[in-house]
Amino acid sequence: MTEQEIINENVHIVKERIEQAAKKAGRNADDIHLVAATKMNNAERVKQAIKAGIKIAGENRVQELIEKYDQNAYEGSDLHFIGTLQSNKVKFLMGKVSLIQSVDSEKLANVIAKQAQNKGFCQDILLEINIAGETSKSGIPPEQLPQIMENLCNLNGIHIRGLMAIPPISHFAGENLCHFDKMRELFIDISQKKYDNVSMDFLSMGMSGDFEDAILCGSNMVRVGTAIFGARPYMKK
Ligand SMILES: *Cc1c(COP(=O)(O)O)cnc(C)c1O
Repeated sequence: MTEQEIINENVHIVKERIEQAAKKAGRNADDIHLVAATKMNNAERVKQAIKAGIKIAGENRVQELIEKYDQNAYEGSDLHFIGTLQSNKVKFLMGKVSLIQSVDSEKLANVIAKQAQNKGFCQDILLEINIAGETSKSGIPPEQLPQIMENLCNLNGIHIRGLMAIPPISHFAGENLCHFDKMRELFIDISQKKYDNVSMDFLSMGMSGDFEDAILCGSNMVRVGTAIFGARPYMKK
């Protein structure tokens, strides 16, 4: 099989798994957005994924995004940023990405708001939650979220569109269900508070190993890398 055929097949399988999980959850698969996590895949492979039906690409690193952006890798798809973002790199993303999923602090949100406002537009963002309370990981502690929402919701320059989480790597099926469940509760909680200028449209959680569980817990945006592109170079033994 050619690389294109393999990616076609993988995308097809992932979509089928999403369909099954949605059915099991009593939900409509059309409401679940599939983001292809494209890190370490070159422009050629990103283009192949888009040809295979991917509508959203998600990049982790600013430098890598810019390189592929300049090669027109994302033509025909939306582009999200999903990786750790340093404040001094925000400027490189402005105007390139429709959604920054990984806003992990109030400070970063403020930087984005200011820069977007200066450029005369409004940047859609998700707030990243450190749902498992891992000290090694960035993200907003769940208990701080209401206050941070309060502080951010009226800023011109950003529009909060939902929440995102990266739970620990799971080693067996169902391991992350408790974290996904907590995210669902938090998402519903915040939705009900009806902050100004906030639309809780997206709950972004679930990766190759656990997206079915995430969908069962209400995820409507899954970020899938290896199940589409195969193992990344550093993962191969
Ligand atoms: C790499 C990555 C993914 C996809 O991970 P896979 O296990 O390869 O599906 C999802 N989200 C983020 C933030 C990532 O960095």
